[in-house]
Amino acid sequence: MEKLKDIISSYYNSYLKEVKRIVQKIHDTPELSEEETLACKIQVELLEKWQFAVEKKYKGLDTAFNATFGEGRPNICVMSEYDALPGIGHGCGHNLIAGVALGTGIVLKELISKNHLKGSVTVMGTPAEEKRGCKIDLIQAGALTDVDIVLMAHPSDHPTSQSMESAGIMQFLIEFKGQSAHSAAAPEKGLNALDAVRLMFNGVDAWRHQLPETCRINGVIKDGGKAPNIIPDYALADFYLRSFDMDFLLSMKERFENIAKGAALMTGTTVTIEEIKHPYKPGKPNNELNKAFMTLAKNYGMEPEWMEPSRASSDFGDVTYEVPAIHAFFNITGEKKDVVIHSKEFTQCAISSFALEQMGKTVKILSEIGYIYLTQKNFEKKVQDAFPFAKTKKE
Ligand SMILES: [Zn+2]
Repeated sequence: MEKLKDIISSYYNSYLKEVKRIVQKIHDTPELSEEETLACKIQVELLEKWQFAVEKKYKGLDTAFNATFGEGRPNICVMSEYDALPGIGHGCGHNLIAGVALGTGIVLKELISKNHLKGSVTVMGTPAEEKRGCKIDLIQAGALTDVDIVLMAHPSDHPTSQSMESAGIMQFLIEFKGQSAHSAAAPEKGLNALDAVRLMFNGVDAWRHQLPETCRINGVIKDGGKAPNIIPDYALADFYLRSFDMDFLLSMKERFENIAKGAALMTGTTVTIEEIKHPYKPGKPNNELNKAFMTLAKNYGMEPEWMEPSRASSDFGDVTYEVPAIHAFFNITGEKKDVVIHSKEFTQCAISSFALEQMGKTVKILSEIGYIYLTQKNFEKKVQDAFPFAKTKKE
């Protein structure tokens, strides 16, 4: 038998052009979260062409899909993301995540069908990572019930690395309502909603000193009044709370809400607290999948580095609570050391020939991990043993 590495490369090379065309098209036609109609359509078309059974509008989400090839378990799921950022297009490089998912999915399909392997491969299209976090809707609807492991890789401005731990996040909109009045002629008639927001920030800052180092709270004022001669009767703030510990994150909510209520009480205003979208769980990656990725990344000529936990958040965190999962990172900025993710410069990097080369290597690494999982019982066992959470399956 030829070497696995050569087999994987030859499969990948045989449809490389098709994957690159899709990566380019998604890049050139950026679509915002939950509007990814074209990106969804062209991925589905390619997967259907490669004999995947595709469910469109998966679990009731218009731009989600689920494409499967093979029979039964183990079922290796590769996740795709394809939403862009407002104003800067693919500044997070999700077009390349789609490329990795399609590439890996099709290589694994070829490995399964040509070697008559037991098991299946799934390419799951997961919309709106940047905004609402549709992976959580998909999980709640049972999308991972028949999945054994999840593989994904994200482009990065850092070195190629393992799946880092990431922070969980909760997001709130805080709205204060008061009474407008002339701020010079009749201040005693007013109730100042902006003051409530200012006091809320002070309360949060005082709380911050007593929080563990692993927490973060960041807020902005979205509306703080209209003119200095009108006492603001309306003010709006937006806050993100983060922690690596899900239980602690949930416990932060009560104190945070009390600070908002306290600010309202001090100013005579009323407050409405709205939790926007789902909380994201912290990312708890699988160490065995991580070790395999790092070893293979070296074998494929990348220069991987183990990275410290990231304080950013992703809806992939919830995936890591369901099944053993990896959200690896592959560098696409190369010599351009100043380029940071979520910038126009990163958008340009996300379609460079270097990025496409790195994407190709990542496809081969994830394909090899999938193949090893399908064929080596001891690897399957090690990966499952390293999974810390009981499955919360919905049958
Ligand atoms: Zn991203």
